[in-house]
Amino acid sequence: MEHDPYERMRLAMVEHQIVARGIHDPRLLEALRSVPRHLFVPPGLEREAYGDAPLPIGQGQTISQPYIVALMTALLEVGPDDRVLEIGAGSGYQAAVLACLAADVVTVERLPEVAAMARRNLDRVGVKNVEVLVGDGTRGRPETAPYERIIVTAAAPQVPPPLLEQLADGGRLVAPVGGREIQELVRVVRRAERFGYEHAGPVRFVPLVGEHGW
Ligand code: SAH
Repeated sequence: MEHDPYERMRLAMVEHQIVARGIHDPRLLEALRSVPRHLFVPPGLEREAYGDAPLPIGQGQTISQPYIVALMTALLEVGPDDRVLEIGAGSGYQAAVLACLAADVVTVERLPEVAAMARRNLDRVGVKNVEVLVGDGTRGRPETAPYERIIVTAAAPQVPPPLLEQLADGGRLVAPVGGREIQELVRVVRRAERFGYEHAGPVRFVPLVGEHGW
């Protein structure tokens, strides 16, 4: 394997921020140990990439704190045959982590420049099973629905109804839901036409801007 000077920082991140806070799923920890997070932050911020915080990625957007990526991915319980829809590609980091766990990932980003950055970052680290699309993700992506897993990485007052429609039977969706400043992480589990909601603690995300968002 090629020498990666950031590997020690990445392994420490997983131990001190993720395992120490109670996340133990071995496939998820392996994914977090393997995805080079420093290649998903803007040039000059590489050394901060493994800190316990979100970072700016331009256009007023952020790459989520590592623990929040881990928590949302753990709540999603992704299996190797799952097709995942992500809303809010941002840096592409969350999509890269999902790509290690799932069959494939479709990620939708509203801002074209941000989508281009996500695509570049994913190509640079050699991730092949992620499709990056530009558009209003609050409408989902009906053409390739249903999805076994859906993750929303920007915050809305409610889960956009099209996303619930595009969730497979037995599927799970994780999203921050609430006000503009602070939200609650929710997990929705679909059983036929019944949607069960669970709450998983307070979070802070940038707004989901679109037809079924802000
Ligand atoms: N998952 C990202 C972080 C996302 S930040 C990562 O791993 O880096 C939230 C992103 O959601 C921003 O890039 C923002 O532009 C995008 N966004 C906001 N509203 C959206 C919408 N309606 N559809 C798609 N993307 C949206």
